[in-house]
This record gives sequence, C-alpha cells and structure tokens, in this order.
Amino acid sequence: MKLNPTAGLTLALMASMATAMAQNTPPATAPATRPVVRQRGGAPYTEPNAPETKYNYNETWKPFFYTKNGDEFRAADGQPGPKYWQNRVDYKIDARIDTVKNEISGSEVLTYANNSPQKLTFVWMWLDQNLFKADSRGVKQVPLVKDPTTGRVYPSSRNWGMGQIFDAGDKIKSVSIISTANGKTTTTPAKYIINDTRMQVFIPGGIPSGGKIQFKIDWSFISPDYGSDRMGIVNNPEGKVFQVAQWYPRMCVYDDLQGWNTLPYTGESEFYLEYGDFDINITAPAKNIVVCSGQLLNPKDVYTPTQLARWADAAKSDKTVFIVKPNEVFSPSSRPAGKSELTWHFVVRNARDASWSTAASFVIDAAKMDMPSGKKPLAISAYTVSSAARNARSTEYAKYSIEYNSKKWFEYPYPNATVAVGRAGGMEYPGIVFVGQGGWGVIDHEFGHNWFPMVVGSNERLYGWMDEGFNTFINTLSTANAMNGENMRGGRAFGPTAQAFTRPTLEPILSNPDNLKEANNGTLLYSKPSAGLVMLREQILGPERFDYAFKTYIERWAYKHPSPDDFFRTMEAASGESLQWFWRGWFVNNWQLDVGVRAVSYVDGDAAKGSIITIDNLEKMAMPVTLEIKTVSGKTERVNYTAEIWERNVSWSFIYPSTEAIESVTYDPDHKLPDANRTNDVWTAKK
Ligand SMILES: [Zn+2]
Repeated sequence: MKLNPTAGLTLALMASMATAMAQNTPPATAPATRPVVRQRGGAPYTEPNAPETKYNYNETWKPFFYTKNGDEFRAADGQPGPKYWQNRVDYKIDARIDTVKNEISGSEVLTYANNSPQKLTFVWMWLDQNLFKADSRGVKQVPLVKDPTTGRVYPSSRNWGMGQIFDAGDKIKSVSIISTANGKTTTTPAKYIINDTRMQVFIPGGIPSGGKIQFKIDWSFISPDYGSDRMGIVNNPEGKVFQVAQWYPRMCVYDDLQGWNTLPYTGESEFYLEYGDFDINITAPAKNIVVCSGQLLNPKDVYTPTQLARWADAAKSDKTVFIVKPNEVFSPSSRPAGKSELTWHFVVRNARDASWSTAASFVIDAAKMDMPSGKKPLAISAYTVSSAARNARSTEYAKYSIEYNSKKWFEYPYPNATVAVGRAGGMEYPGIVFVGQGGWGVIDHEFGHNWFPMVVGSNERLYGWMDEGFNTFINTLSTANAMNGENMRGGRAFGPTAQAFTRPTLEPILSNPDNLKEANNGTLLYSKPSAGLVMLREQILGPERFDYAFKTYIERWAYKHPSPDDFFRTMEAASGESLQWFWRGWFVNNWQLDVGVRAVSYVDGDAAKGSIITIDNLEKMAMPVTLEIKTVSGKTERVNYTAEIWERNVSWSFIYPSTEAIESVTYDPDHKLPDANRTNDVWTAKK
C-alpha cells in the first residue's frame, strides 16, 4: 500500500504544505481521482458537547512495553532461547507416618544438577512446615478481623494453622553431602542455617556449572490439623484422614531471572519448584490405604488379590469400578494379612512436587482415561465411607476434565490422577488433588492445575495469576464443553461483575500475591486474569487465533519456568497482534473501561443518506467496540470496530449506512466487556 504522507496532520500544517505538494507532479498512470485526494478535504469531524475524559491514547498505546529485549536465554518472540537453562533435582524419599502422633519422618537423598552458568557455593531449600510455628513470618502477618454480630476481634486468615498450638515445624536431624571418589562413597555433615521457611546449605568447594551433587537429609514434623488449606488432618469418628503435602525439604529454584528464589512461605502465595523424578517409599499402618502422586510400583504388596483383579478391570473401564467397596472398609479381609505396617512404593517422573494421602477409612474407585496418544492413565478417587454418596462421581469428573484438557491443550502426563478427599478444601499436586467437599467445580479446577503450574512450571510465589488465572480460564472451557454440557453455567457475561474487576481498591494483577489483600486474591489471581483471557479470546483475537497462541505457550514452556514476558511475547508472536495496550490496561494497571454512546445525527439531516454515530472513550482502557443499532422499523444490526479506533482518538464518529431514522444505539449489547458505567451505554432517540 502507498504511504499517505498527510494522514494525521493538522489543517494548519496541511495548508502550509499545500504549495510544496502541488509541485509534485503525479505519475501519468495515476487515476484522475485518487481516494487520498478526497480524504484531504474538509476539517476533522467533531461532534459538539464532548464529555470530559480520562482517556489518554498516548499512555494506553505507548510503545516499549517490554523493559528488556529478548536474548539468548529468553527470545523476543517468547520462546526459550538457545542458551535457556534450568536446574534439576531428583528425590529418593523413605518416609514413615505415625498416625497416633501425626508425625511424618523421613530420609531423602537429593541429586541436584547445576545447569546454570554459575558455580553455586550454597543452595537454598524450603522447610515449608516452619510456617506453622507460632513465631513464623506467616503467622505474624495474620490480620485481625471483627465479628460484625458479636464484636469479637480475633486473628483470621486462610493461610496459617488456625492458631493450633502444637510442636510445629520441620525438625532437621541431619544434612550431609554424599560424595563418591575412587568407587568409595563418603557422607560428610554439611553446615546449614535455617531461617523461617528456608534452609541454606553450604557446599564446600561449590557445585561447578554443569556439575551435580547429592545430599542426604533426615527430618520429621508433626502435621498441623489445618495446614493453610493445602494439607492437614480430618479426625472424624471413622478415624484420621491425612493429606500430606509441603512435607519434605525441597530445593528452591535458582533461575536466570531472580537467581535464588527464596521469598518465604507465608501462606498466601504458593510455590515455585524444580522438575525431577521422585522415588518414594511410604510406610504406614497396614490397615491404611495410601494414595500418592505417580505410579504405585508394588500393588501386590499392598492390595489383596481381589483388589488387584478390580484394578485390572478399572484399567479397561470407562465406568467407575470399585477397588475397595464402602461395605468392605474396615473389614480385615480388605487388607493384606500378617503385617502391622506396609510400605507403598511410588514413582513420579518429571514432576515439580509429589504429595500423598492416607486413611484406614478409604473407599477406592477408578476408571480409565483416554489420551490423544492412546495412553490410558487411571482416574482414581479415595474418600471416606461416610462421604461415599457425595463422592460417587469424583472419578467420572476427573476423567472428563482431564480428557477434555488433554485433547484441547496438552496431554496429561502422569500415569494416574487421584482425588483424595480430606481436610484441604481444594489443592493441586502433580497427579493428585486434595478436595474437601468434592463436586465438578473443585475437581475440574484442581486437575486444571496439572497444566498450570504442574506442566507449565511458572513461579506461583511471584505470579499467582499465571497459575490460578490461567487455570480458571481453562476451567471455563472444560465446564462448558466436557460431559455434554452437564455442568455448563449460564454464560460468562460481565454485567454484574464488571465494576468489581476494576474497583479502585484492587491492586494490579501483576502484583506479588504476598503484596495483595487476602480478600482481593479471588479476584486478582483467579477471576480477573481469567476474564482477561476470555476477552482476549472472544473479543480481541477470536477463538482460533487465541487457542493456537495459548497452546503454543503451553508447548513452549512445558516443564520449564516461564515469566510474564514469555507469556505476553508468545501470545503476541503466535497471534501476530501487538497486545501491549491490553496487557497494560488489564494486567499491569487496574484501569477501567467506560465507553459511552454520545450522539446520532444524519448526513445532510437525512437518515436515508446515512447516520453519524459518535462514541466516547471516558476511562483509561481501550477495547474493541460492538454496537447494536436499531432503526425505527425495528431492524437491528451490529457493527464492530477493533480497539485501534482508540489508538489516536478519544471520541469516534462513523457513518452507519441507515435507510431510516435510528431508534437506539447500544454499546456492548451482550455485556461481554467490563464496562464500568452502564448508564451511558445506550443512546435512544428523543420521542
Ligand atoms: Zn487453584
């Protein structure tokens, strides 16, 4: 296309240039009346009575959104660069649970690979259980609330141990470094310092770039009853149900963005962990059943022959098959005979965590799942006898949720997917989720986390929205589409919640979760980023382009550590669209959207010649525009504009080819946008 040199110039400038331009003789082949000549005529059209506006298109659309260029570690188009690296840690854990004392004790050997370009003279590890000590940083941050009816003032948060007084925290019995030289293995005690939920372990001589080291740690802890809604114990008449997580000393992530990621675990923000293989032995009372991330390697040792036959049936069945039936729970014949304790051996590969649950009261059922590759992992549920009716469909929900997301985005990678019902209301781990009440919503959500952050390993401690928000978004599609729409909620229009998404008391989405009011995290980590992706998909890019770009992001960053820029850049590169104005309004700032319909007039005063419709952008965000135009005979039609009409305008006037007078013009007729002020959305002809 030809460049139009006068576009955007003021009339005064155009006048001063007119003489010079006239001397440019057009080529002989040029048409006599080029459109560009007609565009030059006249002054810019302005509708009178322009309202006051906060909209500044230079602020919304300014360039240089990214604060640094792509490099060989992370490329400008959002993919990992040729020098991208991340460290790896493999865990071999032997653990035992004392179900009377609520104590978990263990011995772990970690193999840590330093793939960074730097030598590491110390490493940092998580001791998450220290959150539950009475003097932890997390406990000290619990705010006071006032009961509105009784007036009682007390500390309250979802993110601690509810004030339980007990012998809390990780007890580190030993930390040693294992070294092998000349075929001889030696174990040397290592120096370490514990500070709150972190432990620094010093490595004499350091781990060179490209080197590996092995550590051995012996530790124990008493489980809290309520572990920040992510683990804990239900103690009911049927006995105790343990959900065990944040349970072993685990390696912090060392990356190219922050170096050592050691922000303490204070309860609100979640985790950031390295990938590796887990080989776990769990010794528990023989009457207990243990479920864990990964595959059980010794089913013959821990299930009866009848149960093994049922596992084999479940592996071929789309319908849920009982492994332990409700009427068999507590029956001695339902457990292998002759031993007081049994050891369960699980392996999970290429995972960033592993968690488990155990109870003597577990009913177990299972069904196969069908993966696009032909693999058939198992969906499994473990729930107490008394909750059997309520959880009867857990396995079915897990199966349909995981099958949908595997087909839509990326194949589920683990050999099974277990729902363990217990104390935590809803919490995700690789291959296993902990739920309280159960039901489609929570099971679909928690297994959705197997994509974010289990497969796409983002930093939840800093960017909770890339975990909860992305997951909440994929939940909207699985809920609408899986199980023949049985779970579909009515629409996702923004009407009633529009103002809530940008209320002035909200922090920006791009805040560290520890930097948000606890009451805001449902909006800022979950619903607002999800609504942003719904808008990006439905209003800006369209489903086909969005889905390709989002899938590209998942594939590029599977088992890696993406940053927000890697996401933003991938979405832009894979859709071919600059979206910086959108990231800036919805994610980086808490900007509002308010578009109003100001006026309708007619060309030459005659509706049959066309209507001039004027809309205004009154707040700081820009979004595409949909208007529904209704004429006096009752005919309605919609017109759409991309967001670029706001790139150099605060008001936008256009001609609608009407043939009769207009009765009304409605902005965002389906309430698909978070318009904060609905009172100016409809223009109606004066009667
Ligand atoms: Zn979640």
